[in-house]
Amino acid sequence: MPTDLRTTDLDPTPCPACGAQLERATGTTLPQPGEVTMCAHCFVYLTFTPRLRLRRLSDRAWLALPPEQRRLLTRLRDRLRARLL
Ligand SMILES: [Zn+2]
Repeated sequence: MPTDLRTTDLDPTPCPACGAQLERATGTTLPQPGEVTMCAHCFVYLTFTPRLRLRRLSDRAWLALPPEQRRLLTRLRDRLRARLL
C-alpha cells in the first residue's frame, strides 16, 4: 500500500455525522482547508473548512476529487472497516 497517508493530531472536534470526538486526522497531506479526511468511527468522508473545522464531504466534492485520490480514500475506508468491524 502506498505510504503517502499521514496522521496528524487535531484539537478535539466532534464528527459532524456521528458526534464522536475526533483527535487525529489521516489524509494525504497535513490538515488544510479543503483537504479530505474520514471519521474513524462512522467512516464518513469529511473535509476541513477554512477554519480547520470538520464538515461532511458533499457528493459533488467527492466526485470532483482526482480518481486516484478517491481510490486511495476508498481503500483506506475499506481497511479501517475491516479492522474495526
Ligand atoms: Zn463519525
